[in-house]
Order: sequence, then C-alpha cells, then structure tokens
Amino acid sequence: MRRPMVAGNWKMMGTRSEVEALSKSIVAGVSAISEVEMAVFPSFVYLDHIQKTFSGTQVAWGAQNIASERQGAFTGEVSAEMVAEFGCEYVLIGHSERRQYYGETDQIVAVKTMRAFEAGLKPIICVGETLSEREAGRTFSVVEGQLEAVLALENSNQTLYNAVLAYEPVWAIGTGKTATAQEAQAVHQCLRERVAKRDEKLAKALRILYGGSVKRDNAAELISQPDIDGCLVGGASLDGQHFLDIASLCNRSY
Ligand code: PEP
Repeated sequence: MRRPMVAGNWKMMGTRSEVEALSKSIVAGVSAISEVEMAVFPSFVYLDHIQKTFSGTQVAWGAQNIASERQGAFTGEVSAEMVAEFGCEYVLIGHSERRQYYGETDQIVAVKTMRAFEAGLKPIICVGETLSEREAGRTFSVVEGQLEAVLALENSNQTLYNAVLAYEPVWAIGTGKTATAQEAQAVHQCLRERVAKRDEKLAKALRILYGGSVKRDNAAELISQPDIDGCLVGGASLDGQHFLDIASLCNRSY
C-alpha cells in the first residue's frame, strides 16, 4: 500500500512573520496525524527557518524549484545541492506555473528530475493539461507526454522509485475549479497504467497526488479514489488549520 501524502505549496506567498506563524500552527496540530506524510514547500529564503521549525517533527519540507545546472555562473539560480543542505527531502519539479511563466519544457523538467536525484532529493514531478487541451480531448496524451520525458531518462526507474507524481490540471490551480474525483481518478489511472507498462512494481508503489483547488470540502472524496494517494495543496495550505484538516481527511491507514 502507498502511504498518503499531503504537501503544501506556499508559492511566493507570506512575509517572514506570516511564514513563522503558519509553521508554528502546523507544528502545534500535527501530532494528531499519524498515517499521512506531510510536507511543506516554502520559498527558498525561508528554508533555514523551516528546517529549524520542522526538524524532529513528522513534517518534511522541500524547495519549489531547482536549477537545471549543477553549479556555476547562473545568477539568481539555486542548485539542488544547495537546497539539500537545508534538509530538504523533496523538491517540486515542473509545477505548471514554472512551465507556463518560465518556459520550462518537458526536457528541462527531465533534467531537473535528474539533478534532484543526484542531490538525494525526492522529486514531486507535476503534470497537467490546460483548459484548451482538455477541451480538445487531449488530456491523456498531454499528461502521458509529460511523463514520457521523465521515463526517457537513462536511470528513470531508479529515479522514479524515489519520486512522487502530481497531477495538477492547469485550469484547476488557484481557480476554485476542481476536477471531479472521477475526472482526476481517470487521469491518475492512466498515469499509473503508463508506468506499469515499464515496471509494474514501480507503478504499484508510485504515489500520485492530485492538485488543483483542493480544500477541506473536496479532499475526502478525492482521496477515496483508488489511484489518488494524496494532495498537493496551494491556497488552502496557507492556513495552518485548513492544511491540517485536509491532512486529517487523508489520514487513512495504508
Ligand atoms: C498548486 O499550487 O500546486 C495548487 C494546486 O494550488 P491551489 O491548491 O491553490 O489550486
């Protein structure tokens, strides 16, 4: 069985004091959640604080992005090795906001997945279709194509055993529109079946999270689907109580 996971993507949100208060509220309530793996993804500049706050708790943390280069003259970039030094266990790779606003292609996503692997970080690889792609009936081919780029990596099996996938329909991110549990399940199943063609054991072990306007009122139905192993939460993770409540709703034994 796959351990459920609830991850909070804090994006470029919050002042230092707000991030401190948010972290504190999560630490205060987390002991009630035993089965779910929780992780938070603050901005790079707060990683030091997050490491101090969450060390010794059951909450992991990670970066929202890493550079595709290992090191060098790349002003403004942050390497996988650098974030690993702050105790990050995970890193988000290929979030749709990176793909949309910073031109991250499937190829770049694959390279960053490699960099994460080399630095001992577990990548949470995000895939998802835009509204026009969905309306054109291309949802499955788009997400499979995005996955394919990672499967094409030389050591993809080894990498994927340490990875998590996140299906995040672009049209559902930050919009208040959620895919229905059935729509999401269909895509998760498609992704798992594609991985199973490569390696059945990996497909059974691989966690696939759903993301896109997950809230307290839809988390339970989403997690009840057989191929949905948890949630990647944006907006609702900025409220400590909401984030904990979503984690409680996913707190099933595995
Ligand atoms: C996200 O940023 O990954 C996300 C899913 O955001 P939201 O929950 O706000 O839609």
